[in-house]
Amino acid sequence: MLTLIPLPAFEDNYIWTWHDDRHAVVVDPGDAAPVIDYLAARNLALAAILVTHHHRDHTGGIAGLRQRYDCAVYGPDNSRIPQVTHAVKGGDRITLPSPLLCFDVMATPGHTLDHVSYLGHGHLFCGDTVFGCGCGKLFEGTPAMMAASLDAILGLPDATRLCCAHEYTLSNIDFAMTVDGTNPALVERADMDRALRAAGRPTLPSTLALEKATNPFLRFHEPSMRDLAARRLNRPDPAPAEVFGAIRAAKDAWDG
Ligand code: ZN
Ligand code: FE
Repeated sequence: MLTLIPLPAFEDNYIWTWHDDRHAVVVDPGDAAPVIDYLAARNLALAAILVTHHHRDHTGGIAGLRQRYDCAVYGPDNSRIPQVTHAVKGGDRITLPSPLLCFDVMATPGHTLDHVSYLGHGHLFCGDTVFGCGCGKLFEGTPAMMAASLDAILGLPDATRLCCAHEYTLSNIDFAMTVDGTNPALVERADMDRALRAAGRPTLPSTLALEKATNPFLRFHEPSMRDLAARRLNRPDPAPAEVFGAIRAAKDAWDG
């Protein structure tokens, strides 16, 4: 019997934790304390850490966890994550003996160049690539790079559950309403996710089907998004990556 839960950390991070009542695997432990508290209270040993990218809010807890647990650390080959014991890249497969889990590594650059996502058992641990109704800022990659990463995610089954690393969904919905406010699926999602947050519950994991229907950053192939980008760019027929780039630029301006 496997349990998957998002451990809250900092303001809005989630440290996704999967365990079988004996051993656990955690994704992107930016802070060791909430992980240690959770594992100690349940007598769980940490078997492995998966890391999506080099940002501190995803890696800051690795050293503290390694001091306490003899665990493997899977992550991109990047000198900014020196604690990685098993470097991974897109196309790799990871098999963990306990909890018995298997992950396919996807290269998902854009937010950072080293960003990878982990796909296993119908779940995608996508770090800061996709958020509920949003996507990560392009700190290192280009719009074309991120659009290619999002296209790879769009190719996964609709039922795939997206385990994102931040609870940004409500503010992302506020932005999405400014570019896609007549989309009934988005309006419905706004009500659903506001109710979840009001009840103190996470809006995640989301499903790829819901993101396809409501997330403007996954809708850059839609004619309505292309028309919006054409108006903003002031030229007809922008390519899909340019549509994505225009929506990302609009969000960056909206964020201020
Ligand atoms: Zn990040
Ligand atoms: Fe982050």
